[in-house]
Amino acid sequence: MRKPPIQAWKALWQWIRYRRVPLSVTFVLTNRCNQTCSYCDIRTDRSMEMSTDAWIAALQEFHSLGLVRASFSGGEVLLRADLSRILSEARSLGMTTSINTNGSLLADRWPEIAPWLDMLVLSLDGPREVHDARCGRRGSFDRVLEAIRLARRSGVPVATIFVADRDNLATLPFVMEMGAREGFFVYVQPRHASCFSVDQGLGDLDSDFLQHLGHMLERARRLGLPIGASRSFVATLLDPEQVPSCRACAAGNFFATVLPDGELIPCHLTRREHPRDLVAQGGVEKAWRSLAHPWTGRGCLIAPYQELNRMFHLDPEAIRSALMRLAGRRR
Ligand code: SF4
Repeated sequence: MRKPPIQAWKALWQWIRYRRVPLSVTFVLTNRCNQTCSYCDIRTDRSMEMSTDAWIAALQEFHSLGLVRASFSGGEVLLRADLSRILSEARSLGMTTSINTNGSLLADRWPEIAPWLDMLVLSLDGPREVHDARCGRRGSFDRVLEAIRLARRSGVPVATIFVADRDNLATLPFVMEMGAREGFFVYVQPRHASCFSVDQGLGDLDSDFLQHLGHMLERARRLGLPIGASRSFVATLLDPEQVPSCRACAAGNFFATVLPDGELIPCHLTRREHPRDLVAQGGVEKAWRSLAHPWTGRGCLIAPYQELNRMFHLDPEAIRSALMRLAGRRR
């Protein structure tokens, strides 16, 4: 059962005391993965994983600090056998829940997962041949499509994330048209050179690439295709000099990430530049209070982080875009 008024008071109290409230947290339950996506190095990190009880204790502590949105990801999050137990705890605490998955293991687990899920987020990088080649697994595209249809039949909203680089950019219209047919939103973000280091930036993706991507998203918006990006995110792609730096980011103040071993950091990309603080050692409140803001990073174009960042800065376009995604409407 949701308890928004109580959470609102808790959040307000955290804001009065510390000027920071963990309203949205990504819980990375595992770095293990059953795919080898060409642009992802998360699986190369072999951190230990917290137990079910430790994750549940962390959720309860975050709840007491005002957390309202819990997102669960990996690696491949469905490799955790206890995912439904953790999701059900988040829901029983009144949180809104989502999982990010490659979809390959979803069909068998759907009956145990679906009752606790508010949003399903899937990786989808192009049509069948392109997607399967990028993630190193034949049949992956078909599993994603199966997962989309399962979720839509169950009434669970679906978004996909398209990681764009020079190899798959031309296939973006295919995915957006598929979104219109199958009923899901498409987030698009340029590939970053490392999932763990903001300072490695976008590698060989230059301003021309970003502007081309921005124009594709603008055209899609005009056609009424279901893109997840707000107008302000698209505007940043069109003028890459304006990418906000980490100093201006709400990560660490309003949203954060917990890694598999309990390390609390502002976001994935600040991992290597950030001191470790384990929620499993001193507790969530101590880790949250001592979380250092990522002052020095050059900023990123990770779509979900940047939409959150804009919302917490009360950007009307980002808020409008989020409300439309919630309502399942195209803009
Ligand atoms: S801009 Fe924000 S989300 Fe992006 S790397 Fe910096 S702190 Fe992380």
